[in-house]
Amino acid sequence: MNYLHLVTTAICIFSLKVHANFKTLDMPKSVRVKIASISLPINLNGSGIMVDNLSLEGIKNVSLIKDDSIKISRSQAWVVQKNSKKLKSSDPILKLDSVSGRIKINLFWYPTPIFLSAKNDNRADVILNLKLNDYIQGVLVGEMPSHWPLEALKAQAIAARSYAYSQLLSRKNEIFHLNANVLDQVYSLQSNLSKEALKAVNETQNEFLFLNQLPLKAYYHSDCGGHTEEPSNVWGVGELKIGTTKDHYCKMRRFEWKYKMAKQRLAQVLGLDALNEDIKIIKSSTGRAEFVEVNGTKISGQDLRQKIGFDKLKSTLFSLTFDENSVTFVGRGYGHGSGLCQWGAKAMALNGKTYLEILRHYYPLAKVSEVFDSKDQSVKL
Ligand SMILES: [Zn+2]
Repeated sequence: MNYLHLVTTAICIFSLKVHANFKTLDMPKSVRVKIASISLPINLNGSGIMVDNLSLEGIKNVSLIKDDSIKISRSQAWVVQKNSKKLKSSDPILKLDSVSGRIKINLFWYPTPIFLSAKNDNRADVILNLKLNDYIQGVLVGEMPSHWPLEALKAQAIAARSYAYSQLLSRKNEIFHLNANVLDQVYSLQSNLSKEALKAVNETQNEFLFLNQLPLKAYYHSDCGGHTEEPSNVWGVGELKIGTTKDHYCKMRRFEWKYKMAKQRLAQVLGLDALNEDIKIIKSSTGRAEFVEVNGTKISGQDLRQKIGFDKLKSTLFSLTFDENSVTFVGRGYGHGSGLCQWGAKAMALNGKTYLEILRHYYPLAKVSEVFDSKDQSVKL
């Protein structure tokens, strides 16, 4: 779990002529990603598996060699069993490593090192320690089709890298920095990146979005429906203003949706006995349902999406129609609408825009900067 901090320098590249140093930062080398939560006991397979933090008559860092099959369970302490041999560790976190660089847990292979973090309900979180670039490659697999244009993939890689850096700083004392799903960013272990996508990650590997001299928690989404949204209008106060933009690029796609539900079912979802009156929409300045008011109670548009289902209420850019028994949401776009609009980024790239132009369009108040190790001060402009 050691995390190597290197003194680095960030160099602004939005204003292309000025290479002014404005901040010293720790260059992130790796991130800890929670990839799964599993029930115990588990079976491990691999070659040359090593389990740290174990003690057996005072011996630490026990290594179990060659095509091992090991059972790990927990009863107040970790119990690692190979054949009739049992080892115990009272540490809450167990570190697994292997000579081959991977270990199979139940049915899935994971890259090592792997950390198992004990949970109360006889479960464990599986946490990977990934080099930042490897993590961004997996996020690109999870978040954007690999065959999309290079400049869109580069913009996506920088947004994902900036988001990761921001979460790493805010969760630096936690067991993991990032969830490998929509709670943070979808990370895939499949290594089926196209050449273009790999190029997009590698050619931008030092580049991050910054705002107020800190890495930006760079939100992104599928389709803004024609106008992006301030994060504070989605998740409330505490979010930085990143600027919004009218987006005619994704409008070319005109993604529209409808979702009809029974009034009684909507009341149930909201924890009400019945809908006594129609729903009122309180819109943000960009036209999204920032809040909806039902029976005198306000709920944020984002919370309503969560309660009904993000795949059903695809965005908060909707209007409502009613009949006697049902409510129909009629909307545009897909996702929360903050930051980079992926379909818009694709259209911009196809229209000849560079990744810097794409990022400037979707994060108007942020800047892209390169971060280098102190020993490598070269600027690649
Ligand atoms: Zn858009």
